[in-house]
Amino acid sequence: MKIQVPSYLIEHKRGLVMFDTGLDPAAADDPERYYPTLHRSMNLQFLQEQRTDRQIQDLGYKLSDVTHVVASHLHLDHVGALHLFKEAQIFVGDGELQYAMWPHPTHLHLYQREALDRMRNYSWRQLHGTDFDLFGDGSLVLLSTPGHTPGELSLLVRLPNRTIILTGDTVHTREALERELTFPMDLDSRLARRSIQRLKLLRDSLGADVWIAHDPEDWAETKRAPYCYE
Ligand SMILES: [Zn+2]
Repeated sequence: MKIQVPSYLIEHKRGLVMFDTGLDPAAADDPERYYPTLHRSMNLQFLQEQRTDRQIQDLGYKLSDVTHVVASHLHLDHVGALHLFKEAQIFVGDGELQYAMWPHPTHLHLYQREALDRMRNYSWRQLHGTDFDLFGDGSLVLLSTPGHTPGELSLLVRLPNRTIILTGDTVHTREALERELTFPMDLDSRLARRSIQRLKLLRDSLGADVWIAHDPEDWAETKRAPYCYE
């Protein structure tokens, strides 16, 4: 079974928005050195063409064209390429920065604190436990879905022809969504379950598709760049 670590690029007339950034592009040369635990435990494979920077450039953009990055949370497999976006505003959920710098010892291995330290002077925008409509037009709404981490965010994306909810690690598999199952690494299972229930309520009321980042079957059905959902 292969588990992917996706990132998403969204074109809006007021900006170019990333949701999550995947692994550090430099690690494609030597995954074992950058992600020893992932490499050991999950047989990490990282191809050059999967680098986030390369995929953005292949679409005809410069990295500096990215204006906003939404980090679902600060676990290392979601923010590896975040350092590439020095000019962008970076959005995280309530308490996420503090927890990443001082996590419970059992969660230490999920963060690359040195990398986060080097980004201290970036434009961080930490939300306060509420949803946030990024451009005020309802097209991109950051959803507060805590539990996996203190500030876990999902992203509601209203395209002209469909509505999608990107979930980061709010939920890990399709089965977990249906059966409202939390994940062993979740910081707060009670909150995590409430957030999963919230995703389902939104899915049903909005007629949205929920995309689950680490679900291999979901990924098999998802088209990759340069394909573009509209
Ligand atoms: Zn995570």
